[in-house]
Amino acid sequence: MSARDRAGAPALLPTSIVGSLPKPAWLAEPETLWSPWKLQGDALAEGKQDALRVVVEEQRRRGIDVLSDGEQTRQHFVTTFIEHLAGVDFEHRETVRIRARYDASVPTVVGPVRRDRPVFVEDAAFLRTLTDQPIKWALPGPMTMVDTLADRYYGSRERLAREFAAILNQEARELEAAGVDVVQFDEPAFNVFHDEVRDWGVAALELAAEGLRAETVVHICYGYGIKANTDWKATLGAEWRQYERSFPLLQQSSIDTVSLESHHSHVPVDLIELIRGKKVMLGAIDVASEQVETPEEVADTLRAALAFVDADRLVASTNCGMAPLPRTVAQEKLGALAAGAALLREELAAAR
Ligand SMILES: [Zn+2]
Repeated sequence: MSARDRAGAPALLPTSIVGSLPKPAWLAEPETLWSPWKLQGDALAEGKQDALRVVVEEQRRRGIDVLSDGEQTRQHFVTTFIEHLAGVDFEHRETVRIRARYDASVPTVVGPVRRDRPVFVEDAAFLRTLTDQPIKWALPGPMTMVDTLADRYYGSRERLAREFAAILNQEARELEAAGVDVVQFDEPAFNVFHDEVRDWGVAALELAAEGLRAETVVHICYGYGIKANTDWKATLGAEWRQYERSFPLLQQSSIDTVSLESHHSHVPVDLIELIRGKKVMLGAIDVASEQVETPEEVADTLRAALAFVDADRLVASTNCGMAPLPRTVAQEKLGALAAGAALLREELAAAR
C-alpha cells in the first residue's frame, strides 16, 4: 500500500476519470449523447442526486481516487452551462458547424453574457456531502464554449471568450468554496484552432482559472467515440501532432495539469516532454472502444509516459468522457484503470 497524501489520494499515480459516465436508464436514454431527461421537475432534481450517489459509489468501489460527478446533472458538457447564462437564447437554437467537423444544434448569443446565478455549485456541494475523497468538477473552457454556439452579438470570438472566462472564473471560485479540490476546463477546441490558441486561447483559459487555490486542469482531446470524431481522426495521419502546438504554450501557463489522450491514439508519447514540469493526466483508457483494457495494457500506457513525466506528476485517467458507452463497459473500464495504476505503483515501489 502506498503512502496517501493529505487529500486521501495515493501520492503516486492517483486515478481520475476525465468526465462523463453513462447515466442510469431511468434518468436518460443510455448510449446517447445529449440524451433528453426521462424525468421532470422535482423528480428530475431527485433523480440527478440519486445518479450522483450511484457514480460516486461506482468510482469508489472500482478504485478511482479523485471522484467526478460523471456529468450526471447535465445533458451536455458545454451547452448545459451556456443555457444557464443571461444573454443566451436557448429557445431559438441554430445549427452550426462545431470543432470544424460536425453540425450541432446550439444556443444563440443575443446580448451581453452574464451569470445571474450559480450553475453547478449546488450539485457540487451535494457531491461533496457524498464522499471524503478529493472531488473534481469539469467546466467547459472559454474557447470550446465560443465554438459551441451561434454568436449574433459580439462578432469576435476572442471578446466573447474573455467574457465567458470571467463568468467561468466566478463559477470556479464558488465550486472551490463548495469543496471542489480540482477544477477542470474542457478545451477540445485547442486541438483544432491552433492560431487562436496562441493568440488568445491560453490567455482566456488562464483568466478562467485566475486566483484559484484548487488544482486546475485543462483537458484537450480528440472527442467522444462518435462517428464524426472517428472519421476526423482517420484524416489525421499516422502521427497526431496537434498537441505540439498547444503544449509549449501550456507549459508556460499558470494551469497546473494537462489532460491528454494516449491509449490507442496516434499521439507520439514524447510530446509530453513539451509540458515538462506540469502534472500530466494521461488517458490510459480508450473511450471509443467497448473492449475493456487489461490492467497490463493500462500499466504499459502509463509506463511509456514515465520517460517524459516524473512519476509523482502522473495521474492515471481516461482519454475522454465515457457517456456514450454501455454502462457495464464503463464500469469495467474504471476497474481496469485502477488495477493498471496499482500494477505500475507496485512496480515502481519494488524498483526503489
Ligand atoms: Zn474529451
